[in-house]
Amino acid sequence: MSILIYSDKINLYGELISAGKLFKEGFGGEIIGLVIGANNADQVNNIADLGFSKILVYSSEGLNNYNPVAYLKALQEAIGEFNVKYVLMNSSYKNKILSGLIASKINAGLIVDVSKLELDNGKIIAERPVYSGKALAKEEVKGDKAVLLIKPGVFKARGEGGTAEVIQRTIDLSDITLELTEFVPKAVEEGIKLDEADVVIGGGRGIRKKEDLEMLKELASILGGAWGVTRPLAADYGWASEWIGISGVSIRPKLYIAAGISGQPQHTSGIRESKIIVAINKDSEAPIFKFADYGVIGDLYQVLPKLIEKLKKIKEG
Ligand SMILES: Cc1cc2nc3c(=O)[nH]c(=O)nc-3n(C[C@H](O)[C@H](O)[C@H](O)COP(=O)(O)OP(=O)(O)OC[C@H]3O[C@@H](n4cnc5c(N)ncnc54)[C@H](O)[C@@H]3O)c2cc1C
Repeated sequence: MSILIYSDKINLYGELISAGKLFKEGFGGEIIGLVIGANNADQVNNIADLGFSKILVYSSEGLNNYNPVAYLKALQEAIGEFNVKYVLMNSSYKNKILSGLIASKINAGLIVDVSKLELDNGKIIAERPVYSGKALAKEEVKGDKAVLLIKPGVFKARGEGGTAEVIQRTIDLSDITLELTEFVPKAVEEGIKLDEADVVIGGGRGIRKKEDLEMLKELASILGGAWGVTRPLAADYGWASEWIGISGVSIRPKLYIAAGISGQPQHTSGIRESKIIVAINKDSEAPIFKFADYGVIGDLYQVLPKLIEKLKKIKEG
């Protein structure tokens, strides 16, 4: 029996293998990593020491860009060959399509957007946000097979060392019913990604205009981190392409500075794994202060520039 781990982002294998270890402890078996696409084949070295017993690399030409029908075939082959019972993937738009296809093919229980996962006496129990984050659903997988899509940041990345056996595979895609005719990659913002950053500077509606996000960006750059916002700034004002929180990106930095953020549960659910939280808010009653390790009651337009100036001086020596 095997536990198969597939991620469409190479940096998330470390988190997924932590979930895989949980399954191995509970059910036994071996943990196999799956990499699909020639574009990723050279990145296999980056994950070879995470603790997989094997890494399967499917690198046929038709797999170079995401095609759910072709990827499904690779997954199906891997599952059949290695008697896979549990498939763990990162929760992403592409994987949601893929997971639905594969779960129906192998008759497995499927849970997407997993924000908490536990094994209770052999039962697989997961929590996931529903109704756009208004509520949490607790679900149990019935049957002996599961496909689980885990949100980034839910598990800590854990490398166990060791060297995986790398197995190269090609597959015949001549019977594939869906052909990819054009692939236009999305423009990505430069800088450190929110879910990978050790330091995150978050801004909320206390920020009055888009240009003032520069303060967050400057502080993030000084501290070698990323910047992010609450949902209204991204979804309502369009100032950023993503937001921090239960319906956005979950973060787990060593330091999170929340400036002008009230601390609503939908936001704090996505920051609860942060090691140290510093809140800057002019309202001493703001709920974020109950959540924070350190609080500054004050105007972010005074506090942030002073903090930036001070840190710059420290950096300059
Ligand atoms: C279905 C659903 C899903 C959601 N998912 C998310 C999510 O994933 N992430 C998320 O963030 N939100 C989410 N929300 C929105 C969430 O409920 C809150 O509305 C949002 O988090 C509030 O953002 P905020 O803290 O920036 O704004 P506000 O709640 O308006 O707070 C602004 C804060 O800034 C302070 N402030 C104002 N001026 C200053 C100043 N000059 N200096 C210092 N402090 C100042 C105020 O005192 C206030 O506390 C969701 C909502 C719904 C309905």
